[in-house]
Amino acid sequence: MDFKLPDDTLAIRDLVREFSQKKIEPIAAKMDKEDHFPVELFREMGRLGMLGLTISQEYGGAGMDYLTEGVALEEISYYSGSFGLSYGAHNNLVVDNIHRNANKEQKERYLPGLISGEKIGSLCLTEPGAGSDALGGMKTVYELKADHYEINGSKTFITNAPVAEVFLVYARNGKSYSAFILEKADGVETPRKITKLGMRGSPTGEVVFRNVVVDRERIVKGEGQAKSIIYQGLNAERAVLAFGPLGIARRALDEAINYSNQREQFGKKIGEFELIQEKLAYMFTRLEAARLLAYKAASLVGDKMSDPSFAAASIMLASETGTQVAKEALQIFGGYGYTEDYPLGRYLRDAILYEIGAGTTEIRKIVIAKALLKS
Ligand SMILES: Cc1cc2nc3c(=O)[nH]c(=O)nc-3n(C[C@H](O)[C@H](O)[C@H](O)COP(=O)(O)OP(=O)(O)OC[C@H]3O[C@@H](n4cnc5c(N)ncnc54)[C@H](O)[C@@H]3O)c2cc1C
Repeated sequence: MDFKLPDDTLAIRDLVREFSQKKIEPIAAKMDKEDHFPVELFREMGRLGMLGLTISQEYGGAGMDYLTEGVALEEISYYSGSFGLSYGAHNNLVVDNIHRNANKEQKERYLPGLISGEKIGSLCLTEPGAGSDALGGMKTVYELKADHYEINGSKTFITNAPVAEVFLVYARNGKSYSAFILEKADGVETPRKITKLGMRGSPTGEVVFRNVVVDRERIVKGEGQAKSIIYQGLNAERAVLAFGPLGIARRALDEAINYSNQREQFGKKIGEFELIQEKLAYMFTRLEAARLLAYKAASLVGDKMSDPSFAAASIMLASETGTQVAKEALQIFGGYGYTEDYPLGRYLRDAILYEIGAGTTEIRKIVIAKALLKS
């Protein structure tokens, strides 16, 4: 078994790392403090070829695999968890989803703008009354009227919505669930940006559809196909987004190691205390174990799209690891970790999101157990 990443994946990792270190690191604290999303920087990533990593070259993508996209997300999240979340939502939830499911005309119409960064995308599944029970509770409806569809309803907690131009939207007509590609210009409203505990800087918002009328070409894969799009999409989403909390955890661990080598109490570096050493050893071990599972799950997505257990297990372990490692790092910083002078609080607040988004930890456990019992 070769644990070394392929050369082209390493090349992308280095490119994303250099960009993130130079451009994202200096503004990460400001993004958090002011809840500011640097749209132009995001578009710059597109111009440099970092958006649409998994998209085939014919549509302007890099033609890479999910593992590479995950590795890129870990690098961004090392510098800013919230920039990473917006990146993951755009690249995976929207761009990759369209690439996987849309027809040629739709891909030609939407992918180039999304990959170049000229347009930012949002995936609209969650509703005020439909979170974990996203399908059963869905109230956003579509109706076929003569030669067009009309869509009514609202979505909430939608990443990138306040800055998005393209919306991949799920709606129902009775028991039939369908996916549509909508544009801001179709009359999609984004009335409210939501203020959050963490992931500040990644804009999250409500989306409203009031008699939004689109022609029949906007439906993805045909009527009634949304369930398979959602389930397959969640697999890819979980496998890739698992790398977000890994990046946050890696950064928290690095900061904790540095601090342990500097801070002195009782005439010694705190790193010399065995209780601190134990924390560092566990943080490292959890992170490395979670990353191995993330590599495996991301490598399986393409071939075993129908088995949801690895992707769910991967993001469950990675997100719990993110929270645990960030919390232990904060503890190692003592009182300083609890201040806004240091970024430890941000790491913890950002990491916790991954136990909620892309299906909660509880739902992931159900997904894994159901798959095991079925097998
Ligand atoms: C920052 C952020 C970004 C997001 N981005 C997006 C996005 O881009 N697009 C999108 O569509 N959605 C997005 N979401 C929504 C996210 O996917 C939902 O918040 C999540 O699925 C949970 O839904 P809920 O918040 O309504 O919680 P609920 O479903 O109401 O759950 C409440 C609690 O009950 C538990 N629970 C629910 N059902 C069960 C069960 N059967 N068994 C045991 N426990 C259960 C849950 O685990 C949770 O602890 C985002 C959320 C956040 C916070």
